[in-house]
Amino acid sequence: MSAEIIDGKKLAESIKNEIKTAITEREEKSLPLPGLATILVGNDPASRTYVASKIKTTADLGIRSFSYDLDENCPQEELENLILRLNEDPDVQGILVQLPLPGHLSEDEVLHTISPKKDVDGIHPFNAGLLSRKYSEPLFYPCTPSGVIRMIQSVCPDISGMNAAVIGRSSIVGMPTAMMLSRCNATPTICHSYTKHLDEICRESDIIVAAAGSPGLVQGDWVKPGAIVIDVGINHIPDKNGPRGYKLVGDVDFESAVKRAGAISPVPGGVGPMTIAMLMANTLKAIDYR
Ligand code: NDP
Repeated sequence: MSAEIIDGKKLAESIKNEIKTAITEREEKSLPLPGLATILVGNDPASRTYVASKIKTTADLGIRSFSYDLDENCPQEELENLILRLNEDPDVQGILVQLPLPGHLSEDEVLHTISPKKDVDGIHPFNAGLLSRKYSEPLFYPCTPSGVIRMIQSVCPDISGMNAAVIGRSSIVGMPTAMMLSRCNATPTICHSYTKHLDEICRESDIIVAAAGSPGLVQGDWVKPGAIVIDVGINHIPDKNGPRGYKLVGDVDFESAVKRAGAISPVPGGVGPMTIAMLMANTLKAIDYR
């Protein structure tokens, strides 16, 4: 039997339609519209593509966009001064600094500079701290983990009591995803490059979230029959016959996993579009914190 495919693109479209409707209503009532500032530093082609896609989505939804394209060698102070200005700008509700930054810049210091009220990526230490506290709500939930949870809930609204393997413990994906799964009353196991018997942990899991950046890491026979598999990984692998010379694959060996999973997300067309939709949702929400 083949798994249900969790179509992230379709789910993202429905979320974006709701956001567009809310923004149109604001427009009709002459209420302030949300504004998103995107900051790109340097020339990393993947970062450029992601930022272009985010800017296009803001335009489609009626969110005002302010884009800043900084030189590869931009000093830390210049970047931080720009963020401090945007923190005070009443037209800007959300500030997104595209990561990773060039090596000479401190990501940590940059993230600390963003006002938690404008942290639409949901990764400021203040919001990350609130996420980790049982009875607290962060001002924003991080975008990719939010997309992952929405995808899981689209096929299984109540995941209470389920075991979940989260492969990856980064601050923007793995760790917050595990915390959000726990908030949904699932029991996450946080796996990383030192984890032993990863295959066995996966086989015992009702949910697998793969966010390692390792192509085809999760094999079909790691998947418990009927499990929900969310593939966050985006890996470029050579493809001599393709028009671009490379193709995008996830961290899950889709061909074998689709035969055992109950539901599975593809790459591309899975978590990627959901991340952008959740960013837009957070930008709309940021209006409440003006
Ligand atoms: P990081 O490199 O920051 O983290 C990767 C994590 O995976 C680390 O915790 C690492 O362990 C762990 N890991 C790596 N290899 C293995 C392995 N073989 N077994 C077990 N654990 C492993 O990456 P990100 O969290 O930023 O991103 C993860 C993936 O998700 C990437 O492919 C990225 O491109 C993609 N991504 C996709 C998004 C989307 O919207 N679809 C958004 C953001 C990221 P350790 O801590 O020990 O090093």
